[in-house]
Amino acid sequence: MKAISYSYTEVRGGEILALDNISMKFNSKNLSMVIGPAGSGKSTLLRITGLLESPSSGSVIFANEDLTNPTQAERLNIIRHEMGFVPPYPSLLPYLTILENVMLPMIKKNKIMAIDMLKDMGLENMGSYPNQISVEDQQKASIARALINNPELILVDEPTSSLPQSGSNNIMKLLKKLKNDHTVLTFTDDMKLIKYSDAVFKLNKGVLE
Ligand code: ADP
Ligand code: MG
Repeated sequence: MKAISYSYTEVRGGEILALDNISMKFNSKNLSMVIGPAGSGKSTLLRITGLLESPSSGSVIFANEDLTNPTQAERLNIIRHEMGFVPPYPSLLPYLTILENVMLPMIKKNKIMAIDMLKDMGLENMGSYPNQISVEDQQKASIARALINNPELILVDEPTSSLPQSGSNNIMKLLKKLKNDHTVLTFTDDMKLIKYSDAVFKLNKGVLE
């Protein structure tokens, strides 16, 4: 990311500068962390990094390719194959089992592979519905869903905000394990998570400290 700025236009016509001239590089096969209080621009940066939105100015480089303003086809292709998103709250579909939830975005359906992956994560209760398992297990399933197409980059928004301390440690240990095969970007306001990271970027009011 080079010199990224992003402004929201308010309904009344005003502009909110959410990101101000941000440059950062996330190394592959690392767990990088963007830390900042609520409103500092983390989720905006996540969406720009994940190609869900283009910046107002600056450039986005992914795997040596300039993807600041990709074509719609390029954007979809990369989002589908190279990006995995984990939202702040698991948000699984309540009427599907854990296994069905995780397989939903799978491009090449492979049930055995999905089952193996969930077992690897310790989610034996994959036939249950989301409201029958703990929030920690739901969060694991949400991570599994993001990983199902083996993306290069996994973007995790507030991974521990809905969890108590013990669950939070378990999820961070899981994310740390993932960096063997993926590049992990975690966005959080929790300073206690720094110890799990390889690189830390501090964001405050849209500015990198
Ligand atoms: P964080 O994830 O760190 O809490 P956000 O990226 O969500 O921060 O928000 C950064 C700033 O942009 C905040 O001032 C927020 O109010 C503003 N913002 C976020 N989303 C919108 C939106 N859709 N419209 C207008 N302003 C927004
Ligand atoms: Mg946010």
